[in-house]
Amino acid sequence: MIQSVAFIGLGAMGYRMAAHLPKHFDTVYVWNRNFAKAEQHAAEYGTQAVELAQAVQADIIFSCLPTSTEVENLIAQVQLKAGSVWVDCTSGVPESAKKLVQQLEAQQIDFLDAPVSGQTIGAENATLTVMIGGKATAFEKALPAIQAFGKVIQHVGEPGAGFAVKAVNNMLMAVSLCAAAEGFTTLKAHGVNLNQALQCINASSGKSAVTEMILPQRVLNRAFPKTFALPLLAKDTGIALDLVREAALPAPVLALTQSLIQAANLTAEKDSDFSTAVKMYELWSNITLE
Ligand code: NDP
Repeated sequence: MIQSVAFIGLGAMGYRMAAHLPKHFDTVYVWNRNFAKAEQHAAEYGTQAVELAQAVQADIIFSCLPTSTEVENLIAQVQLKAGSVWVDCTSGVPESAKKLVQQLEAQQIDFLDAPVSGQTIGAENATLTVMIGGKATAFEKALPAIQAFGKVIQHVGEPGAGFAVKAVNNMLMAVSLCAAAEGFTTLKAHGVNLNQALQCINASSGKSAVTEMILPQRVLNRAFPKTFALPLLAKDTGIALDLVREAALPAPVLALTQSLIQAANLTAEKDSDFSTAVKMYELWSNITLE
C-alpha cells in the first residue's frame, strides 16, 4: 500500500505530471529548486510543498530533471527511507540507472528508470507513455502511482532499459525531423504548397509524428511553442549515439542526425523549442517552411 508519494522537479513535464497525484493519494509532497514553483503547485493542486529532506521520505519518489547528473547530485544529498522506490522520469543515461540501482540497493531502496513520452500535453492529460527499467517487484510496487499520469506503461527490462528506449525513440523523432526539413524545403523550392503537401503525405507512407504533429502544430504555423527544449533533444540524441558506440554497431544515419541536432542546438537562440532545429535548414536553403 502506498501511503505517500513525492514529486521532485516541477518543470514543463513535472509540474503537470505531479498535478494528477492528489486525485489518487492523500499525501503528495512536491519539491522544486526554485521553491516558489512548489508553493504555486500546492496552491493550485492541493499538494504539499516541503523541504527536499521531507519529500524523500515518501514511499514513492518521482523525479523529472534535465539530465542524470542532476538526479545523481540530488540523491547524493539526501537520506532515503528503506523500502521506498525512486522512480526517475528524467530522460536519463542507462549507465547512470545501473549505478544508482547498485548504490541504493545497499540501503534497501529501489530505483526505476521511468522516462516518459507524449509531450507536455500528454503530461497534462495523463496520457503519457512510460518505459520502465528495473526490478519487477519495484515496478509492481510503484505501478499504481505511475498510473496517475501514464497511459501506456511498459516494463521494458533491466535497469537502464527504459532510458535506452527513450533515447532511441527521441533519436528516431530527430531523424524524422531532419528528413522532413529536407523534404519540405525541397517541395517549397519546387513551388509546392506545403499545407497541401502535408495533407497528401499524412495520408501516405511518408508520414510520421513529425509530419502529423510537429510540422502542422509548430513549424508551418511558425508557432514554435517552447515546450521541449532543443538542448534536451541534443542530450537525448547524444545518449542514443553513446549506446550505438557501446554496442560497436554501424549506425551512419543516427550518427549524422546527432551531429545535425548538435549543430542546430549550437546555432539556435537560447531556450528554443526542439522544433526550431528546422531553422538551420531554412538558413541553408534560404527557404521558410510556412
Ligand atoms: P524543464 O527545463 O522544464 O524542467 C527542469 C526541472 O529540473 C525544473 O524543475 C528545474 O528546476 C529542475 N532542475 C534543473 N536543474 C536542477 C538542479 N541542478 N537541481 C535541482 N533541480 C533542477 O525540463 P522538462 O520538464 O521539459 O524536462 C525534464 C525531463 O523530461 C528531461 O530529461 C526531458 O528530456 C524529459 N522530457 C521532456 C519532455 C517535454 O516535452 N518537455 C517530454 C518528455 C521527456 P527550476 O524550476 O528550479 O529550474
